[in-house]
Amino acid sequence: METPSGLMASLYTTSYFKTQIFKNGLAKFCTSPIDTILCLDNKQSMYCQLLTGLLLRDEVVRIGSSFASVLARSIKFLEDYWKELCSNIRTGYLSDWIADPACRNAMSSILTGPEPELADLIQQICEDKSWEGIIKELWPEVKCISSIVTGSMSQYIPLLEFYGGGIPLVSPNCGSSEACFGINLKPLSKPFDVSYTILPNMAYFEFLPVNNDGGGMSHETATVNKPVDLANVKIGRYYEVVVTTLAGLYRYRVGDILKVTGFYNKSPQFQFVERQNVVLSIDLDKTTEVDLSNAITKAKLVLEPLGIMLTTYSSYADTSLTPGRYVLFWELKMKGSNDLPKLDAKIMEECCGIVEESFDFTYKSLRKGGVISALELRVVKHGTFDELMDFYVSKGASISQYKPPCCLKSEEAVKLLNLGMVGTFFSPKTMF
Ligand code: AMP
Repeated sequence: METPSGLMASLYTTSYFKTQIFKNGLAKFCTSPIDTILCLDNKQSMYCQLLTGLLLRDEVVRIGSSFASVLARSIKFLEDYWKELCSNIRTGYLSDWIADPACRNAMSSILTGPEPELADLIQQICEDKSWEGIIKELWPEVKCISSIVTGSMSQYIPLLEFYGGGIPLVSPNCGSSEACFGINLKPLSKPFDVSYTILPNMAYFEFLPVNNDGGGMSHETATVNKPVDLANVKIGRYYEVVVTTLAGLYRYRVGDILKVTGFYNKSPQFQFVERQNVVLSIDLDKTTEVDLSNAITKAKLVLEPLGIMLTTYSSYADTSLTPGRYVLFWELKMKGSNDLPKLDAKIMEECCGIVEESFDFTYKSLRKGGVISALELRVVKHGTFDELMDFYVSKGASISQYKPPCCLKSEEAVKLLNLGMVGTFFSPKTMF
């Protein structure tokens, strides 16, 4: 896109994939041919990349995407298209709807003829009722799943662990289109223990101290001090990261809060805490992404023993009525299949209650005082969040950097999720 001053701007991955550095470097280690990566039609791109991955299944040692949400999306795509992919492999003929000439050309040197034995094998694996560990079965040489799974992406950890069947999840780096902050020097650490080490040459880094409760109460994360430089951060403290870059950003506040956990030589190491933005707000309440994620993590524990998986969630503050309320959207499915679980009203209401109970003091006092109404939980059917992604991609979001919004600002997006709704539940009346 063009900025108002006429400069060209793009998301990091978009510009990186177009460079010679990628073409002559990392691209050579990918099974996906570069033309399929650069294809502007996401569906054709995804199909061809999966087809290549299946044809070259013994060469695949790592599966990944920048953000875990994209990987979750790829698995769903595989669920929808494995039969067609198998048929292409069996006949050696690429589906006609792959119309992009560069993709067709690239695939012609990989899909060179019928491979019925391979097609049978993949069919046999995919026909299995449960897809637990499917990644390991389809790609037996895979050593790790590499994708950012910290911060808001942590919601995908259970899904990736389920499909990965024990393959380590590696959260490789932390950064933004503005600057890369750091890399994970202990790739095998558990997702919730991951610390990133700052790469001091990536930008000129400064850190704005924020009050200690980096997660939890956003109104306490307000900046309280002058920025400190790289060498003067303190272990255990929370900071908002500020970058000055060669591309021309001067003391730019990216909006991410980091907690310093240690040093590698003299470079700080940190855990990603949250995007500073408050996601839900009614009256004086300010609920952050972390508040929401923690509350939902607690509530979904009720569903797990019933074999129900929460695959994705979002939310919005419904202020169309007074008092307003927070609405959660949950996409639920049974573990091991895409079937919609039987929704027991009592259990779903219990989930609403747990979420409200986990919110902070301000929320609870406003709720008690009738300034905020009972939380509403709308359950949507499997695939609804994919439609949400299609919607944002159609509006110009980058598919490779897409992150499902944990809070919706667009009415159209809310409408779209409402279309997939299969049940709605409220916090118990007796709660407050
Ligand atoms: P983008 O603007 O698409 O480049 O996305 C950058 C944003 O993604 C950052 O500002 C963070 O909020 C988030 N992000 C990037 N890396 C990580 C990570 N390792 N863990 C959690 N969130 C991340």
